[in-house]
Amino acid sequence: MSLDRRHFLAAAGGAVVGLVGESSSGGGARARAPVSRSQAPGFYRFSLGQFQLTVVSDGTIAFPAEALWPEAPKAERDAVLASDFQPTDKSTLQVNVLVVNTGDRLVLIDAGSRGKMQQQPTAGRLLQKLAAAEIKPEEVDTILITHAHPDHLWGVADASDTERTFPNAEYVIGEAELNFWMQPDHPLASHAVWGDIYGQNMKTLAAIKDRIRTVKPDGEVVPGITAIATPGHTPGHTSVQIASGSSQLLCTADVVGNRAVAFQHPDWRGGFDLDLDQGAKTRRAFLDRCASEKVMVSSYHLPFPGVGHVVRAGAAFSWLSSDWTWDGVSPT
Ligand SMILES: [Zn+2]
Repeated sequence: MSLDRRHFLAAAGGAVVGLVGESSSGGGARARAPVSRSQAPGFYRFSLGQFQLTVVSDGTIAFPAEALWPEAPKAERDAVLASDFQPTDKSTLQVNVLVVNTGDRLVLIDAGSRGKMQQQPTAGRLLQKLAAAEIKPEEVDTILITHAHPDHLWGVADASDTERTFPNAEYVIGEAELNFWMQPDHPLASHAVWGDIYGQNMKTLAAIKDRIRTVKPDGEVVPGITAIATPGHTPGHTSVQIASGSSQLLCTADVVGNRAVAFQHPDWRGGFDLDLDQGAKTRRAFLDRCASEKVMVSSYHLPFPGVGHVVRAGAAFSWLSSDWTWDGVSPT
């Protein structure tokens, strides 16, 4: 049965009349419906060669701008942030955990914080979002810890560090990184700012220590996933190369954070980099590699889902987000 145009308009008109009548007799507009603050599920799938990748959000974390770039002239720092329509007093970072299904192994790149960063109540959502993406913690085979900062490491165990979040997983971490954080007499363990984090790291690493495998610079994490030594943010900080067939992706970890500052001023020394000079040097070198190779990039702290490309902009760089793909295919 076909509906011709005249009948269609009549039917549609009837519906409109019905709605108006209902609204006026009910005495209120539909905009009075309850306002929800819930968002979409917080995961994003795409493909890379034969691999399926899913970015799963742990939420967001925020820090004062002056703590992130303590040496940058305030006026210049404010101008960069304002020109990007960001607040000038603080920087909010997404927490994008990358899940790689190689067909053979299910691999997480970092583990979020599991709500253990008490000053950052907007983070710690990874388990909820993994469930939304239908990824079960017990299915995870390998977790690469790019570095032992709270937003990357603490999610491997519960609040008391007695129960592992991913019961069947092995943990891969840079050899230099593990060695750095497991020295009770290290000066950082009693440092005013870093002391608490150092102590918590030792507890959390102890919870997984019988499942840890260390990786050397440029070592294989699992077939298709290779560690890239990018020291500076921490001594054993690791970025990642993921390759399937001729398709490649570079995963920055914390070489970059803010979408404007890290790219426009890669040489500004970052307040959270443990080695300030090396951190800046590594950032420029890594961004240079991404731009030269024109490779797809995934980034832990850039706007969700943190997938895109790095391009040159004068003597610095710029971040270009990829267009969202709705069917889990390779983004452009
Ligand atoms: Zn981080």
